[in-house]
Amino acid sequence: MIKKVLVANRGEIAVRIIRSCREMDISTVAVYSDADRSALHVLYADEAWHIGPSPSTESYLNIENIIRTAHLSGADAIHPGYGFLSENPDFSARCREEGIIFIGPSPNAISMMGDKITARTTMTEAGVPVVPGTKDKIESEEEALKLIGEIGLPVMIKASAGGGGKGMRLVTSDKDVTTALRGARSEAGTAFGDDSIFIEKYIEAPHHIEFQILADSHGNVIHLFERECSVQRRHQKIIEETPSPILTPERRLQMGEAAIAAAKAVDYQGAGTIEFIVDQDLNYYFLEMNTRLQVEHPITERVVGVDLVKEQIHIANGKPLQLRQEDLKQQGHAIECRVYAEDPDNNFMPAPGKVTHIDIPYGVGVRVDGSIYEGFEIPLYYDPLIAKLIVWGKDRMEALERSRRALQEFKITGVKNNLRFLERILHAKDFVGGNYTTHFVEENKEFLVNEFSCDNHCEDIVIITAFMEYLRKIHKASPKEMTALKNNWKDYSRVRSVFKL
Ligand code: ADP
Ligand code: ADP
Ligand code: MG
Repeated sequence: MIKKVLVANRGEIAVRIIRSCREMDISTVAVYSDADRSALHVLYADEAWHIGPSPSTESYLNIENIIRTAHLSGADAIHPGYGFLSENPDFSARCREEGIIFIGPSPNAISMMGDKITARTTMTEAGVPVVPGTKDKIESEEEALKLIGEIGLPVMIKASAGGGGKGMRLVTSDKDVTTALRGARSEAGTAFGDDSIFIEKYIEAPHHIEFQILADSHGNVIHLFERECSVQRRHQKIIEETPSPILTPERRLQMGEAAIAAAKAVDYQGAGTIEFIVDQDLNYYFLEMNTRLQVEHPITERVVGVDLVKEQIHIANGKPLQLRQEDLKQQGHAIECRVYAEDPDNNFMPAPGKVTHIDIPYGVGVRVDGSIYEGFEIPLYYDPLIAKLIVWGKDRMEALERSRRALQEFKITGVKNNLRFLERILHAKDFVGGNYTTHFVEENKEFLVNEFSCDNHCEDIVIITAFMEYLRKIHKASPKEMTALKNNWKDYSRVRSVFKL
């Protein structure tokens, strides 16, 4: 039985894992880089060990330092979190060699799913629909053009080792093939050290819908339903919700079964996610499997009523799953908003810096998983995710209204962040309506980014915009006053009450 876990990660996910360990009476070991000396996970764990300089290649990705630290601290297991080493088969293998339990799947399952070309072949054999496209890696431009002729434009040129939205190019015309191929190849080479490329059909106006699965070492595999993750920027998720507003019960059942088949095909053990891309007619295609805990896992925890980290630990201990498929159901609705230290007005550029003040929302149905505190200096070396707001409601409308309320209460000063951007998403007509695709952010850019610009999304915005103009022109409001007003802006009802309209 696992008694002491080293968490090979940082930020909110490290804190979140430590919390579940504590509830299970398992000791925790944090590891940290130079930049993270006073990070929350370091303060929160039972003990903390320095593992190297700030760049992640020398610290959080340094396998040997982490293994050595596990031995020195007497940890019997390692939880990799997400990102960093979580999907590195060599790391999972090294842990095994060293007699340390890796809380995650086998090196073989990670390799088979980590390579998208191999995964596509495996899934096809298992009867899981994949996006139409090439079976092998592309060697030349001539070959690419020939295959594109067969698949039909538009297509996505993708890196087999891809992740985090990198190494992907959309091609809509033959003349762009050369540039796209080179671009994807070089980005993949730099980011993943593997420039294998394949081509798949571009699904128009799609939804990204993924299924959470759990698999134990006794052959039991269950799914914990879906997460709708179509609100994305740069192919990366910003807001996720469950249940998906577009799935029918029949489709949910089919996709859940496909997800289980996918996991079984690689003898999967642990928690994992099968990502599907879904078109307007609810046809679904396997996109990839993430062989780890996912950033957005808490919405599943809330709606299904499980602690996924505890499940991971039970599985790693060799215990059979206690949950049965037939007992699981989705209760109510949950929405996660990812809070990033980034500038939505400047192409979502990361904006590290010192947090001077923070107001965290509380109240019914609200959970915040975060890693910042007042005075904390957000390092520039890592992913700019700083907190996640997870809100539950009895139905979608309540979850939405409660999320808006919680975001109104959420304040972070000192660093640029996307809190107000998130708030506007929750007011956008397409989001409220529930039928939004992965193009949502791009299509709603004007409304989401320019604080007071307007179109026909919401008549309140039109009135607020007009009112701001009135203040600026007639009352000659100073830029400072205008900023103060903008920062206080919540929704039209607030403006109306403040200005007694
Ligand atoms: P999720 O579906 O959980 O949001 P993402 O693909 O967005 O997963 O990745 C989660 C985290 O891991 C992010 O911090 C992302 O930047 C990082 N990440 C994912 N894949 C890779 C990769 N291949 N190389 C480096 N970082 C990655
Ligand atoms: P990553 O490993 O970087 O997460 P994915 O294959 O999961 O890459 O794709 C990330 C996102 O890119 C998807 O959620 C979707 O928005 C978009 N995407 C990927 N493949 C396609 C496709 N064939 N058609 C349309 N959109 C796609
Ligand atoms: Mg993905």
